[in-house]
Amino acid sequence: MGGVYREPKLVLFSNQVRSACGFAQAATGPFYCPADQKVYIDLFFYQELKTRFQAPGDFAQAYVIAHEVGHHVQNLIGVSEKVHQARNRMNEAQSNALSVRQELQADCFAGIWAHHAHKARQIIEQGDIEEALQAASSIGDDHLQMQSKGYVVPDGFTHGSSEQRVRWFKRGIESGNINACDTFKARAL
Ligand SMILES: [Zn+2]
Repeated sequence: MGGVYREPKLVLFSNQVRSACGFAQAATGPFYCPADQKVYIDLFFYQELKTRFQAPGDFAQAYVIAHEVGHHVQNLIGVSEKVHQARNRMNEAQSNALSVRQELQADCFAGIWAHHAHKARQIIEQGDIEEALQAASSIGDDHLQMQSKGYVVPDGFTHGSSEQRVRWFKRGIESGNINACDTFKARAL
């Protein structure tokens, strides 16, 4: 897209962590903080992924990171800011619907990562896609960052259905192309 890609930093934590977006407690789950451009992964959440959500495996973990990096890309290309601005002018239902589209696009971006990582390094093994899809379909979403208030809040109602998450992740994997990920223009999700 002609822009410069700045790599995000990955922060692994257990229990609690301080970010530019505020203080995260245990069980916050993974999140991305646009203010410091870091991806925060709660290792306790990975444990939960394995035990409670039945989505074990390295590829499921990779998918979670890729989804958060998807939010980073949305931040770099201005999607996050646009969504944030638009949500301020909307009622709650409209705002949630827009948030769902942002989340599904992050899933699609995660798929793009998987597509190209496999092309470059043959990383995907038998069962990996199913593993990630299991994670995509069984976990609640990460926590969205409230830029206006500067702290992390749970968004259990804004992540899209399991079926939608799987569909957009697959679109990214199959196409490997950002143009396939325009969830904002899609009539059906
Ligand atoms: Zn997300």
